[in-house]
Amino acid sequence: MIEVSKLSKSFNDLEVLKDINFQMRSKEIVVLIGPSGSGKSTLLRCLNGLEEPDRGTIQIGDVKWDATLQASAKKQAIRDMRLLTGMVFQSFNLFPHMTVMENITMGPMLVKNQSEKQAIELAESLLAKVGLLEKKHEYPSRLSGGQQQRVAIARSLAMKPQVMLFDEPTSALDPELTGEVLTVMKQLAEEGMTMIVVTHEMKFAREVANRVIFMSDGIIQEENTPDVFFAQPQTERARKFLRQID
Ligand code: ATP
Ligand code: MG
Repeated sequence: MIEVSKLSKSFNDLEVLKDINFQMRSKEIVVLIGPSGSGKSTLLRCLNGLEEPDRGTIQIGDVKWDATLQASAKKQAIRDMRLLTGMVFQSFNLFPHMTVMENITMGPMLVKNQSEKQAIELAESLLAKVGLLEKKHEYPSRLSGGQQQRVAIARSLAMKPQVMLFDEPTSALDPELTGEVLTVMKQLAEEGMTMIVVTHEMKFAREVANRVIFMSDGIIQEENTPDVFFAQPQTERARKFLRQID
């Protein structure tokens, strides 16, 4: 489903991703953890076409981005990768001047040429799934952070991505609102969505992840099942990280 090889990315003199290699299967849930600045967001942003790597390849489904492709082929690959991946950010990023319904229907209508009727039907089914159908005519500012994030998830799902990328989706939320977002994510995982989740929620990682990837300094330091990773981290870096977040 996803294969990343020898992926590198620098910002000026700072090499943020250093020869990253990893693969994941369809329906797998990977939790990506690591200290601040280790390159987690940059990796997700590369998968979503928001950052362009300097070297390496990214394959998602049938789409392959390769640093050696010609510019026009790269551009096309980036467009395709964006359609295949849905991204949910820490800061929700809903359009403030649009209602919940408009936020969700805009993408399918503009990008996928869906009729308004089709887009509304889909939005309603997704809002029901995230438990917010009754908020469809509200503006984002009238929703709690947890509700906004659930709308952001529904908006992403409306584009029918093959992979969902979550970048600290609950970090901006009060603790009492975190649970409702994690519940929606857990439900998605149970339905067989392929997901990469950057999070500090270790309980979620233990319960939902098939695999934990620990990054630091732009390198994948170790990866393992959550059971093994949390009980017996292999590297001193991971042990130190786990002690700090305990
Ligand atoms: P956090 O846990 O704090 O979110 P992270 O693991 O997601 O950290 P990244 O956001 O990927 O880390 O950043 C990795 C490094 O790259 C950091 O040193 C960051 O300052 C730098 N960086 C990220 N984006 C840019 C950018 N657009 N321009 C310059 N430097 C950047
Ligand atoms: Mg980050």
